[in-house]
Amino acid sequence: MVDAAGGYLTPGFIDVHSHTDNHLVCAEKLLAQGITTVLSGNCGISPVDFSRFFAEFEETGFPIHQAEQVGHSSLRAAAGQDNVYAPSSRDQLIIMKELAKKAFAEGAYGLSFGLEYVPGSPPEEVLELAQLAADAQRLISIHTRLTKLNDVDSLREALEIAPRTGARVIISHLVYMFTGDGLKRAIELINTYRQRGADVWADSGVYTAFATGAGTPVFDEKVFFEWGMSFDRLRAGTGKYAGQFLDLEKYREIRRDSPGDSLIYDAGTPDDIFTAYSLDDVMVSTDSGENPPGQGHPQSAATFPRFLRVLVKERGQLSLLEALRRCTLIPARALGLAQKGRLAEGADADLVVLDWERLREAADFPGFGNPDAPPQGVKLVFVGGKLVIKDEQRLSGVYAGKSLHVK
Ligand SMILES: [Zn+2]
Repeated sequence: MVDAAGGYLTPGFIDVHSHTDNHLVCAEKLLAQGITTVLSGNCGISPVDFSRFFAEFEETGFPIHQAEQVGHSSLRAAAGQDNVYAPSSRDQLIIMKELAKKAFAEGAYGLSFGLEYVPGSPPEEVLELAQLAADAQRLISIHTRLTKLNDVDSLREALEIAPRTGARVIISHLVYMFTGDGLKRAIELINTYRQRGADVWADSGVYTAFATGAGTPVFDEKVFFEWGMSFDRLRAGTGKYAGQFLDLEKYREIRRDSPGDSLIYDAGTPDDIFTAYSLDDVMVSTDSGENPPGQGHPQSAATFPRFLRVLVKERGQLSLLEALRRCTLIPARALGLAQKGRLAEGADADLVVLDWERLREAADFPGFGNPDAPPQGVKLVFVGGKLVIKDEQRLSGVYAGKSLHVK
């Protein structure tokens, strides 16, 4: 017996966009928010050998359930195409398709693209792989191509994949891709496709600043200046300058000497978050990943409690029930998880009890606070019927997460 008196009982939260990829520390940060299921392998980056990946998951045990996608960029690298500015050759594409088929056969849940990171991949390459995923009845997640600021044309390229191939398409982290009027146009376009019956979905975080690798094309110097990005919005997320705003010299130094460090760029305005969630069924996502302790974006430790605090408690834009739908039932539908996202007899016993008054995030950006700080108010969590958080404390050594495969 556990005492849940005074708390709000909800199905466990489902995070549709993460880079958890078997990282235990990252998964623990999600669990502390009440997330019991995560979809990893996003933005084109994933393991390629899924037998090994799943064996590793089973061996170590895992705090939460995880579904894993195979990523386009990782397939390219495995096929020998390391140049993100060049298209894959015919021979490379054949290898990529074989590897994707093998990954699906071994249990990969979907196919992800991070097209902004591979500007050289032509739409035909994307469509050919997307068709393969559709034929295998796997979903597709897309971090869209951005050829200019607020490039809505490339959003159309991504949305068009759904009617053309028959695949379900999830548009990744809306607020990190679009801002201001561009975001409004993006939402209108997604809405148009949904109204026409296209099987398209979208997720968003609750920050306007995104984090990504310093050495990726997102931070190419040409892009930085042509798009009018500015140093007063650019911070180092990890590495020796973590938490500091950068100047041209430090930006160049990091890109040259430690391209794997993450940079945080605040591209948006505070209203963007409210705009993103004004679209029906937009799901909450963390975009979380592994970072050195005390460094990185607070999204990994704070997103879901922050969503509920800002959108429900403060802004009142969503009712509590509607907000919880965006964290549970809607993502369960988008991922085809009929046993999750609802409280019902026979459904999976992934459960969370919230202390609503106390609920708030505690993590903040490096330089301002601790990006790893766990939230308050996530009182009890059950994963697959096992109690894993009690009185806001993680019960150590309990790993009840299962690896989710497409049936
Ligand atoms: Zn992404």
